[in-house]
Amino acid sequence: MAEPLFRRLTLIGLGLIGSSIARAARARGGVAGEIVACDRSQAVLDRVRELGIADRVEIDPARAVDGADLVILCAPVGAFASLAAAIAPRLAAGAILSDVGSTKRSVLRDVGPLVPEDVHFVPAHPLAGTEYSGPDAGFATLFEGRWALITPPPGVGFGSGPVEDIAEMWRRLGSMVSIMEPAHHDRVLAMVSHLPHLLAFTICGTADDLADETRQQVLQFAASGFRDFTRIAASDPDMWRDVFLNNRDALLEMLARFTEDAQAMARAVRWGDAGYIEDKIERGRKIRRSLIEIKQA
Ligand code: NAP
Repeated sequence: MAEPLFRRLTLIGLGLIGSSIARAARARGGVAGEIVACDRSQAVLDRVRELGIADRVEIDPARAVDGADLVILCAPVGAFASLAAAIAPRLAAGAILSDVGSTKRSVLRDVGPLVPEDVHFVPAHPLAGTEYSGPDAGFATLFEGRWALITPPPGVGFGSGPVEDIAEMWRRLGSMVSIMEPAHHDRVLAMVSHLPHLLAFTICGTADDLADETRQQVLQFAASGFRDFTRIAASDPDMWRDVFLNNRDALLEMLARFTEDAQAMARAVRWGDAGYIEDKIERGRKIRRSLIEIKQA
């Protein structure tokens, strides 16, 4: 087995993503000699202990990072500023501070200024997840074959040692790695992840209101299309509230583009423009087929 990349890894936030990192690091080896788990909830820490996925649990973030050469923030992005303020004075010289947050400009804004000069700051985002949350939702294979995007602060490139260490960690957890500029990351993710979630939460609310108003069993007879939306809409409220509020500009931009396209589709339906409708459906099928081909479906 490869030498561990890090002596001590501290994970802060042991939900779906944090507990999956702990499990994958244990199962695959070569990532960390010791894993320290920190969460604000004692119930989560008790469960982590029962599951045996960390060597030590610690409720105080400042104590949890003591002596760690890698710290990964795995809480909702809205908690990052106060977490960074709590841990910054205790981070070891030469340590790497990373995260898994779904929005990246906000992480640079909220965490960047608090990182001590002798600590390396390497934000990242694994493009892997499910609609479940909490420490029981995690699993060791979550990151296999999935992309991990690394979004270093301006001026730090792939060549840098700490960036390469984080890239290697994600490879050892099973991911494919790419580097991306934070603002670009936020626009891409607004389109492929944040907007679909916004639509799913909205459509479920609309269907629920309709069921109330008409007293019809809209939900009982939900056909497969609607069912797929409800799976996405089952996601964690804290996490998604924070994602929407921390990627506001890009999300609103993509929503405006979508609204324009939806209006065009409405017009085609109203005027019986079968060609336009067929063309859009055909494009959707092609996109689905190409996702299957590149094994990201
Ligand atoms: P999750 O399952 O809800 O887990 C988050 C954990 O963080 C919970 O145990 C939560 O405790 C804890 N927490 C909240 N505030 C904290 C604080 N101030 N200090 C310490 N712990 C705190 O969420 P998740 O899905 O793992 O998401 C975690 C991060 O990964 C988020 O930043 C998210 O944007 C990112 N991400 C998520 C996905 C996804 O699909 N889910 C994919 C990629 C990246 P409580 O239960 O007490 O709130």
